[in-house]
Amino acid sequence: MANKEQTDTARMEKIVSLCKRKGFIFQSAELYGGLNGCWDYGPLGTELKRNLKDYWWRRNVQERDDILGLDGSILTHQAVLTASGHIGGFSDPMVDCKTCKGRFRADSLDSMECKLKPSCIPGAHDKCELTEPRDFELMFKTQMGASADENDPNATAYLRPETAQSIFVQYKNVMDSNRVKLPFGIAQIGKSFRNEINPRNFTFRSREFEQMEIEYFCRPEDGLRLTDEWLAKRLEFYAEIGLDAEKLHVLDIPDGERAHYSQKTYDIEYDFPFGQQELEGVAYRGDYDLGKHQGHSGKPLEYFDEQTKEKLLPHVVEPSAGCDRTVLALICEAYDEEDLSKDDGKPDIRTVMRFDPKMAPIKAAILPLLKNKPELVAKAKEVQALLQPWMNIFYDETAAIGRRYRRQDEVGTPFCIAIDFETIGEGEGDDKSLTDTVTIRHRDSMEQERLPIADLLPWLAQRIR
Ligand code: ATP
Repeated sequence: MANKEQTDTARMEKIVSLCKRKGFIFQSAELYGGLNGCWDYGPLGTELKRNLKDYWWRRNVQERDDILGLDGSILTHQAVLTASGHIGGFSDPMVDCKTCKGRFRADSLDSMECKLKPSCIPGAHDKCELTEPRDFELMFKTQMGASADENDPNATAYLRPETAQSIFVQYKNVMDSNRVKLPFGIAQIGKSFRNEINPRNFTFRSREFEQMEIEYFCRPEDGLRLTDEWLAKRLEFYAEIGLDAEKLHVLDIPDGERAHYSQKTYDIEYDFPFGQQELEGVAYRGDYDLGKHQGHSGKPLEYFDEQTKEKLLPHVVEPSAGCDRTVLALICEAYDEEDLSKDDGKPDIRTVMRFDPKMAPIKAAILPLLKNKPELVAKAKEVQALLQPWMNIFYDETAAIGRRYRRQDEVGTPFCIAIDFETIGEGEGDDKSLTDTVTIRHRDSMEQERLPIADLLPWLAQRIR
């Protein structure tokens, strides 16, 4: 079993290279040397990420009666972040090396390399000269308005470091406008920003990233139980999107390592090729956040229980997942190389992304056997038009069909639909029974089966949801 130290650099390099080659993920501003810690999702990465976010939303909002959505602003009032404790408190310890001028996160020196050659852990080289650790503020600050004055507190805003705060700040508005009863949750997917000292491991630690967060408000006596229930739900979710349960690990954060207000915190970690690392935190935060905002704003944030006629400040359980980290886990999980070499000694390695069909960027590829046979092309376009309103489809008429299958394997398309002579009633002999049927080729087993075009849509819909 993999552990924190077990890494596979060669595998990770292949994954990063495939992501660029096939258009999953590019370095941001690569043309100008790259913007460190920022990434652009290419066409396939965008689809993959959308599938993940849509599925998370479906499972956590659409299919539940007790969770509502929010889409808060990214620019955040500084009073919000003063109340939450981020201003003045959201920092990482940093050390500088006076020799190589490198800057490193002091609490993870073990996983870093200094710039001196031969490279080693910062501080380990004879010539390294590290400063004492000092706090480095992780938030991005900006000025608002045309006449922004640096000394005017209202002209200063921050890019949010987490999506959670707008949920706490809007919790009362959501409650008052929706007649909800405890327990209930508010969910949000959106960008967050942290000026990480050392962005690394591809998209894993970025300066701009997306989070998928729920704040689940409840009565105090239910908090601990609900935290365990949320942990179980979140593990189920990861299984549903195709992550191997063996590669997921739950850390029950011990006393002394949790935030002081949290009675229970779990980290869900995944075995990435660069080691076991956090995907999500599930934390029981008590009434800390609402209490802070109530105190700082001077406005009551209590919930009135109609039945008991009692006012109370709800407690909150927070499942907080990283969207980009989950996308990266999906990519790492899916990547496979299958040896299909035959006895003739010619090596034949099939690269295949074994995405769960729900997550796969392209659901089906439509492949006419020949591009210079107008009847085949016309039929293929007909099938494309039938499916395209319902799912992401790829049409390809170039190259031999075997090569086209392999191209789809490399981007994880679960089904290839071949339009051949039988489809147009021109198969061998007089048998017309296969007219208007297509060949479906399965990505994982490479097996093929025949299906009437009329059955295609329900057949696929069942398999990609
Ligand atoms: P870490 O310890 O890895 O810095 P964290 O415990 O500070 O993460 P949280 O504040 O709990 O992270 O944020 C919730 C989730 O947001 C994390 O589990 C992770 O998936 C995601 N996340 C946090 N920071 C980053 C980042 N710099 N890049 C990508 N995702 C991130």
